[in-house]
Amino acid sequence: MSLGVTILGATGTIGVNTLNVIQQHRSRYRIIALTANTSVDKLYEQCLEWSPRYAVMMDADAAEQLRQRLLPINPDIEVLSGVEGLKQVASADATDIVMAAIVGGAGLLPTLAAAEAGKQVLLANKESLVMSGQVFMDAVKRHNTRLLPIDSEHNAIFQCLHGQDKVAARKILLTASGGPFREHAAEDLHDVTPEQACAHPNWVMGRKISVDSATMMNKGLEVIEACWLFETTPDHIEVLIHPQSVIHSLVEYIDGSVLAQLGNPDMRTPIAYGLAWPERIDAGVQSLDLKTIAQLSFSQPDIARFPCLRLAYEAMLAGGTTTTILNAANEIAVAAFLQTRLKFTDIAKVIETTLANLSGRAASSLEIILEDDAKARDLAQEAILRLYSSSSPLLRTA
Ligand code: NDP
Ligand code: MG
Repeated sequence: MSLGVTILGATGTIGVNTLNVIQQHRSRYRIIALTANTSVDKLYEQCLEWSPRYAVMMDADAAEQLRQRLLPINPDIEVLSGVEGLKQVASADATDIVMAAIVGGAGLLPTLAAAEAGKQVLLANKESLVMSGQVFMDAVKRHNTRLLPIDSEHNAIFQCLHGQDKVAARKILLTASGGPFREHAAEDLHDVTPEQACAHPNWVMGRKISVDSATMMNKGLEVIEACWLFETTPDHIEVLIHPQSVIHSLVEYIDGSVLAQLGNPDMRTPIAYGLAWPERIDAGVQSLDLKTIAQLSFSQPDIARFPCLRLAYEAMLAGGTTTTILNAANEIAVAAFLQTRLKFTDIAKVIETTLANLSGRAASSLEIILEDDAKARDLAQEAILRLYSSSSPLLRTA
């Protein structure tokens, strides 16, 4: 019997890589649902190839366009829209596995719906965990959900912890490529463009996560993600710059053993691992040629040039909705940078200002999380406006 797969964010880089792995194992999986935000053309092509039972567009107009185009060709595909449509397909009976690969906070409700329905959740959408850690993990426990990390570092850590005495793990070494500006001087960071920020040296990724990698907020979000996934605290996680992106992360044990997971930087490896767990399937990834790579190097991150990493550590230590606020402010700042409304180095300033203007509180319910997420987004927009109007102070006085 094949397994039913729903891909939230099918048109993105993770979604397309997931389809690529499934393509290699067509008898093992069948596609139940594919979703996108506004990319009608791309989802239409995917529907023609995969004939899912459902296609969901977040955007209602886009859904209507897709419906009209599919009707004469494949009327059996039910086209849904909005967050309710996403939640419906994430929890549909026919779905066994949900790839959570929507970018940003928009992924939270559908990913949570999958967790609450007890699906096998392949988590790429790290923002959902950063926003709602406790609430999300409680849902996973309550519904006995199998949660498998797709983020390459967390997938590596998961593999290094599997079958081990977890109590004996001393620390997690979370590797980071350092992004495209790893060697830029601080003064050269002011005027970098979105195109430069999105040109990652090792990975092809969506624009938002590419900017996060360039600011190193991605690594900060990953520290938070690791705390929730592996039930640990920031002081047990060390970020290590490793420009080759060959070692995807490591776990050190109390006897001095350090286990690492290595591989070419290709997201199909963690995706295949998540799809087939606990078995392994061919991902179509080339063998790792260590002779050609020849050297693996490591160094400490520079928190002064990349303050987002510090902000994320501090937010996790503060706890509660502080990480929700951090994530929301980051999303607003990154979007503004991509629209060239904000300078690269001001991304961290907007986040820091938002965190200073809104205190976190106990993240005891989804309602509280969504409320603070919305407030932080408003405050971050306000901070961007104030930043470039010289008369207004950044910090709120009232
Ligand atoms: P992309 O930007 O390439 O794709 C995002 C997907 O989400 C698209 O299908 C997009 O649809 C959809 N989407 C965007 N906004 C919304 C919305 N408001 N509502 C519903 N759907 C939406 O991102 P990536 O594939 O690179 O990343 C996806 C997630 O995986 C992120 O959380 C990222 O941090 C994480 N991740 C990615 C890695 C990578 O290598 N790319 C590695 C590790 C984690 P549309 O095409 O219509 O815009
Ligand atoms: Mg990662």
